[in-house]
Amino acid sequence: MGAKIGSEARQERIAALGYDYAAKPVRRTLRCNLCGGDRFATLAHRDRYGYPAKADGCLRCGLVFLNPAMTGDAYAEFYTNVYRPLVSAYHGRLIDAESIQDEQRDYASARADFIEPRIRERSCKTLLDVGGSTGVVAHVMKERFDLLATVIDPAPLEIEVARAFGLKTVTGFVEEYDAGGATYDFIVLCQTVDHLLDVSLSLSKIRNLLSGEGLFFVDIVDFRAAYRRNGSVEKAVKIDHPFYLTDETMRAYLARSGFDILAIDCAADHLHIGYLCAPGRHDSNALPDPQFVKDQWREIRAIQNPLP
Ligand SMILES: [Zn+2]
Repeated sequence: MGAKIGSEARQERIAALGYDYAAKPVRRTLRCNLCGGDRFATLAHRDRYGYPAKADGCLRCGLVFLNPAMTGDAYAEFYTNVYRPLVSAYHGRLIDAESIQDEQRDYASARADFIEPRIRERSCKTLLDVGGSTGVVAHVMKERFDLLATVIDPAPLEIEVARAFGLKTVTGFVEEYDAGGATYDFIVLCQTVDHLLDVSLSLSKIRNLLSGEGLFFVDIVDFRAAYRRNGSVEKAVKIDHPFYLTDETMRAYLARSGFDILAIDCAADHLHIGYLCAPGRHDSNALPDPQFVKDQWREIRAIQNPLP
C-alpha cells in the first residue's frame, strides 16, 4: 500500500512539471549508431517517468537507444528547464546544481583513485571534462593532478557553477565544439555517454581532441545491470538517456573509435562501469560477440514475461 501511494505521489510530482514530451520535435534513426545495422526490435514504449518514449535494440549488435529521440534543440531546452526538476520529482527530493555537489565530489574522488596510477606515469597538463556539469569532477581532478581544466556542458545553470570554481567553461555539446586545433592530455566523459545525442560522433571527436600520449576516461550505466536490477526494461529507460550501453557495446564503441582500454573499473554500486583508455588503432568492424546479443534478447524476453 505504501509503495502504491509513493508511486502515485511520484506520478503527481512528474505531472505537475507539465512537460509535454509527446509534443517535442523528434527524429527517427534508421541506422544503428554503433554498427550501422538497420534491423531493430522495439523493446519499450514508455520510460520510467511514464513518458511515451520508445526504445529500440539493434538486432545485429544489441545497442539499445531511444527511437525516435528528441532533436538537439529539444534536448538543449530539456537540460535548461526540465532535467533537474524532473529528476527531483522522480526521487522526491531536491536535486539541483548545488545539491549534487557532495555526491559528485565523492564520485570524482573514487574515479581519481582509479585513474591515478596511469596519470602519474604521464605528464598530463590539460583536462577537458565533456558534459562536466557543475565542474565538481573537473575541480577534483585539477587539484589532484595539477591540470589546467576546461568544462563543456549544455546546461547554462550548471556551467555557471563551474565558472565559479575558476574553470574554463564552454556551453554546448562536444559534437559542435571547435577547439581551434587544441588537444588535451586527459579527457573525461563522466556519467555522460548515455546522455549524448550521437555516441559515435562524440567519441571520434574526443579521439581527435586527445593528445598522442593522452588518457580518456568514460563510464556507462550498464543497461544490463539496470534492467536486471529493476526487473523491467521500461524502468531502466528514461528520456534523459538517448543511449543504453553495456560492457559489450561500449567496448565495441571504444575499439571502433580508436581507443585501447588500459583498465576497467566496475564501480562499487555494481551499476556503473568505467574505462580508462589510451589512443589506439581504429578497429572499424568491432562488434559485440553474437552470443551476447542473443543472451540479451533472451533475458529481456524473460523479464518482460516472467514465469508465474
Ligand atoms: Zn547495431
